[in-house]
Amino acid sequence: MELTRIGEVRRLLAAYGLRPRKSRGQNFLVAAGVLDKILEAAEIRAGDLVVEIGPGLGALTRRLVEDGARVVAVELDAGLLLVLRDVLSDYADRVRLIQADALEVDYDALLKTVVGRQSPEVGPAEGMRDVPFKVVANLPYYITSPFIAGFLEAGYGFERMVLMVQRETAERMVAEPGTKAYGALTVLVCYHTRAEVFWRVSRHCFYPPPAVDSAIIRLFKREQPAVSVLRPDLYFRIVRAAFGQRRKMLPNALDHCIPGLDRKAWTRLIRDVGLDPQARGETLTPEEFGIIADACAQMGFDPPAVV
Ligand code: SAM
Repeated sequence: MELTRIGEVRRLLAAYGLRPRKSRGQNFLVAAGVLDKILEAAEIRAGDLVVEIGPGLGALTRRLVEDGARVVAVELDAGLLLVLRDVLSDYADRVRLIQADALEVDYDALLKTVVGRQSPEVGPAEGMRDVPFKVVANLPYYITSPFIAGFLEAGYGFERMVLMVQRETAERMVAEPGTKAYGALTVLVCYHTRAEVFWRVSRHCFYPPPAVDSAIIRLFKREQPAVSVLRPDLYFRIVRAAFGQRRKMLPNALDHCIPGLDRKAWTRLIRDVGLDPQARGETLTPEEFGIIADACAQMGFDPPAVV
């Protein structure tokens, strides 16, 4: 069964009484060459542990398993899970299907159960942060940013993420300061990972075709954050506030984003660290945000002050 042929996708959906649901971002990959590119980016080795989000009809899942991976696949749609159980029945020992909203899963807990069961040498009590895994997915576009942000903020110990995302979102993740695409997502992704756009993908590689083009992005988890800051919570609070009102000058955008720091205090602080208080957040590098955040931390804004 060739799962990336448009005729086969249509036939399978019809056989199970299903239609692609736009509200769930169901655009199935119908280009075998693009699947090859995802696998190339993921560099799967025998025994790799892979989390796949939104397996759909199982085209990518099957290729991951055939390349030797153990896959934990999280799919929201109950109808598609019925298809997946049949399509992947020959690989039941290496695929774990979970019906859940990918935004609500505790991946440490989930992987602990899988590893605990399948690899006796790694006991469940050891915790997942030491067990490397990859995330490989053709993501439903409506969850892309919250999924990536939530996953990074949770601090999971992944080795890399290989994700098909909307092209504009991919560009936001690798954007340079001072560009329109540069924003809070860029800074977050840069803090935790080294990001690269691996391959550009036309909308016509999907059935049904979405309204936008896509890209495969690779995010390699950094061993240490890109920017060393005293208080990451302060750092990201400042970054979010700066981009929340990106057209405003920094002191205005940051006004009261930290209790006790008004516009005047921000102007002074930004000037004291050698930066321009008239600048807008979108022109600051991740390191310059770090300088501002550390100055704040050194002024004694302790955790309870930050809500
Ligand atoms: N992997 C398949 C492929 O490449 O053809 C399907 C990809 S399709 C773009 C996105 C998939 O994510 C669909 O199967 C959809 O049902 C599933 N999905 C949508 N929202 C989800 C969510 N919140 N959590 C998990 N899966 C979700």
